[in-house]
Amino acid sequence: MDNIEIIFKNIINNNIEFTKHGKVATYIPELAKNNPNDLGVYLITLDGKEYCAGDYNKKFTMQSVSKVLTLMLSLIDNSNKVFEKVGMEPTGDGFNSIVNLEIKDIHKPFNPMINAGAIATTSMIKGKSVSDKVNRILDFARKLANNPSININEKTFLSEKETGHRNRSLAYFMKSYDIIEGNVEDILDIYFCQCSIEVTCKDIANMGCVLANDGISIHTGERLISEQICKIAKTIMSTCGLYDASGEFAVHIGIPAKSGVGGGIMAAVPHKMGIGVYGPALDEKGNSIAGIQILKELSQKLDLTIY
Ligand code: GLN
Repeated sequence: MDNIEIIFKNIINNNIEFTKHGKVATYIPELAKNNPNDLGVYLITLDGKEYCAGDYNKKFTMQSVSKVLTLMLSLIDNSNKVFEKVGMEPTGDGFNSIVNLEIKDIHKPFNPMINAGAIATTSMIKGKSVSDKVNRILDFARKLANNPSININEKTFLSEKETGHRNRSLAYFMKSYDIIEGNVEDILDIYFCQCSIEVTCKDIANMGCVLANDGISIHTGERLISEQICKIAKTIMSTCGLYDASGEFAVHIGIPAKSGVGGGIMAAVPHKMGIGVYGPALDEKGNSIAGIQILKELSQKLDLTIY
């Protein structure tokens, strides 16, 4: 048995306790149905070894984990012009905060990992129609996960569309300052679709693997993203990936990662591995409470910090 296998034997038991201290997201009604006791993890090394534990097979929606994908696609489509409309600085505010949009002169969102920033990067993705753009995002997710069966959870999409008033206000606010162009409702539909992409821990571990491997699929050897775009994505994940908990996460865990309110966290350990965790009980900042602890245990025991 190798070192990681030994750690994986107890990793769920060691961290399941933390799920009791979190709550599932309820502001999106469909997410309120998630089981707060779920906890799973999947780890894939760049030389192809795979390890899993707990509820690694359960499906959940990507939510904000998808923001990394739409950042990369908008960079593929527009190169660094993206940063004329979205910044690259952490906020210290919650993921759906509106305050910084209003008080800064230029009204551009602080970074692409908060809702306003992600709506802006999504608005820059090219395509002939809404469905064309959604298909491009879906196709990108399938390639990165090496899983052609990935799809959108229709119920979650409709639930978000019905209740996403905060996102609607962020989007219309940005439209009023020309941060986003085009039809706001169309852009929001694309954003709600990307958030509703359904995955497992294995899928996001594979996505993390591509990032860890500087853009090349470990399964096909195909280059899926340029090294430069990978570098930008990992850097912004490191500084902004867990919203206003990113600093603490960097100190204790030190791995580029992105969380979502569906309970997923995608982590990319450069040149080593991709890790996907799922635990829908969230802390007050909207990050998987036990998922963070699992990553902490792995980081400490395997010495994974990049710093
Ligand atoms: N779909 C969610 C929202 O827009 C994503 C937020 C998140 O995962 N933090 O509110």
